[in-house]
Amino acid sequence: MLTQTDKAFALAERFGGEADGEFIPGGVPISRIAERHGTPFYLYSGEMIVDRVRRVRETLGTEVSFSVKANPNLAVCQLIARQHEAGAEVASSGELVVARAAGFPPEEIVFAGPGKTDDELRRAVEEGIFAVNVESPNEVERLAAIAEEMGRTVGVGLRINPSAQLMGSGMRMGGTVGQFGMDQEDLETVVRRTAAHKSLILRGVHVYTATQVFEVEPLLEHCRNILEIALEAADHAGRPLEMIDFGGGFGVPYFEKMQEFDLEGFGAGFRELLAAYREDPRLAGCRFIFELGRYLVADAGVYVTRVVDVKEVRGKTFAVTDGGMNHHLTATGNMGQVFRKAYPILNLTRMEGVPGEDGVALAGPCCTPLDKFGDNIPLAEPRVGDLVGVFYSGAYGYSASNLGFLSHPSPAELLTLEGEVHGLRPGGRPEDVLDGQEALPDSGRVAG
Ligand SMILES: *Cc1c(COP(=O)(O)O)cnc(C)c1O
Repeated sequence: MLTQTDKAFALAERFGGEADGEFIPGGVPISRIAERHGTPFYLYSGEMIVDRVRRVRETLGTEVSFSVKANPNLAVCQLIARQHEAGAEVASSGELVVARAAGFPPEEIVFAGPGKTDDELRRAVEEGIFAVNVESPNEVERLAAIAEEMGRTVGVGLRINPSAQLMGSGMRMGGTVGQFGMDQEDLETVVRRTAAHKSLILRGVHVYTATQVFEVEPLLEHCRNILEIALEAADHAGRPLEMIDFGGGFGVPYFEKMQEFDLEGFGAGFRELLAAYREDPRLAGCRFIFELGRYLVADAGVYVTRVVDVKEVRGKTFAVTDGGMNHHLTATGNMGQVFRKAYPILNLTRMEGVPGEDGVALAGPCCTPLDKFGDNIPLAEPRVGDLVGVFYSGAYGYSASNLGFLSHPSPAELLTLEGEVHGLRPGGRPEDVLDGQEALPDSGRVAG
């Protein structure tokens, strides 16, 4: 079984490896990148993103949609869009703006998510995206009214919450109670309600119920169930479906004892499964889609932060860095995790260094004990000025963090592509904290 350090070194190797004991993503020494762009920063590998998207698409033999919320960076989305191997799944009009700016054509975009406002629905209709994946019967009616008012038609996917309580170990892929989607029991009613509106074109069904899935068999069973739900929907509609969106949720092995999701095994099983359904006339011309966020981009990002202080606290070595939970909420265990577990982390300045036996407590600069990457990180000889890399940081990093917390400057975003380092977004400055704020006028004083 791979240790966290093994995983970190394997990932580092894919970014470009090391030279003279130093990490060289895209062949460029990390110290030079840090000098040029300042710390902290997120660094993405263009090649790793492109390779992963292609491999997923080839292995599944279906269409793939990138869940923009995993990494809404414009250049990252552009890279994926330009490959023409993936579409986009968006969950807000901001993400729709990014997807369009990145070059995803409207017919490759689906819009999911609870709580879409009228403005968001209007924008989706205006853009002519392939499907709005509606999350409630009420949303069906609102979307129909909006499209009608605009004199337009709009594609609709019905987001269904399956009734079957399919279980993997420690996870449930149906029968859940939450704000997402519509109960399978209501399928007939919502299909009929959708069909009753001339402004709505029923594209098909969408099911997304679980994330961080590693088990192939339960996931295949889940997909079979989705195919059955789709056939039922086609029966109610009295015509073939144009889309089945299987969700996805393939896991990324961030933590110890987690191993890679078996993409090849799942792909083989899925292709076999699909072969059994593909010829069904109710699925004639149907698009099959997996929407994936973290699985496409998590491994292609590293968060780099500089050690500002090192100290011994009652015999424990603490290294304190210039970025933490404010920039990377998920890696500090603050996004819904019950137990704090550490991501794969390396001292990028001393790749040949040997970690001490007790490990290092690695903390960020935010004044709360929650701001910690881990208590026992096998970090080689941390010294002030060293650069530390938190791997698996390409998804749910920058945009999933509370960048304003503690008012530190925001991190830069960089991308290596063909040996060049591209600045995608500069790091912030302390003065940025005032941006967009209105000061009180001179007269703004309480009388008395
Ligand atoms: C967030 C989300 C995803 C992506 O989840 P990952 O775990 O990043 O793959 C896919 N579909 C929908 C509807 C989502 O909300």
